[in-house]
Amino acid sequence: MKDTGPLRVAITCDVESDWGGRAPADDPDTRGLREGLPACLEVLQDHGVRGTFFINASVLQTAPEVLGRISLHGHEVASHSLHHRSLDCLTTEAVREELSRSRDALEDFFGGCVQGFRAPQGRVPEPWWELLEEAGYTYDSSIFRTVFPGRYQHVQAPAIPYRVGKIWEFPVGRLWGTPFPLGLRWVTALGLVGRALATTSVGDPVILYMHPFDLVTPDAGETYPLSARLWYKFRASQARVTLDRLLDAWQRAGVVFMTLQELASSKLEGHH
Ligand SMILES: [Zn+2]
Repeated sequence: MKDTGPLRVAITCDVESDWGGRAPADDPDTRGLREGLPACLEVLQDHGVRGTFFINASVLQTAPEVLGRISLHGHEVASHSLHHRSLDCLTTEAVREELSRSRDALEDFFGGCVQGFRAPQGRVPEPWWELLEEAGYTYDSSIFRTVFPGRYQHVQAPAIPYRVGKIWEFPVGRLWGTPFPLGLRWVTALGLVGRALATTSVGDPVILYMHPFDLVTPDAGETYPLSARLWYKFRASQARVTLDRLLDAWQRAGVVFMTLQELASSKLEGHH
């Protein structure tokens, strides 16, 4: 941890099919990829901010042109697995496949070297960090410091990046004064831009996460659970404005935006 200097914020985006990865990966009408992702890239570009995009490799061929813009805009590409399955329900061999094949597919598509991973729904199997290290990753950002039945159980996890073996873990932030993760969907739904900003006063770096479909009002989706439909539609039209206001306010506060790979490099340097 550094003691002085401006606060650092990492903007992260999990790129997957609509309805929280429930929609078929090859759905050509997926609005998150076709409309949400360009909107997200536009807002970041307006602010000159580069982020980290955890991409589910199964959507690469669904919208190749817009996905290609992620690296063209200078953002970091990281892995969000191959099939968006819950990794804690798979065999160790299947987890190894998800880790290595997703990385190969992303490196083939984008070029460059994929260093980071985020598990679908933040569900991680054991022995998590050993598996990541074996697959050649250098950092992870799958730990959400909050409780969500059947999903996150990591309230006790450290608020700041920590190291397990050779892997840096970058825990996703928590909305100040709430048990909720620092996600654009949460900030938008609860109207808590102010609290998201307050989060910068309690942790460094601050890690925000979002999805392309957070920025659109999804249609259809009658086959998905009612709870998901209500959640993803509630105030969805406000998401783009919320992201814009957040970046604005953070920039006025003098925050420095970094990719997770940049943060991992600075951490590694500090430990040699
Ligand atoms: Zn996901």
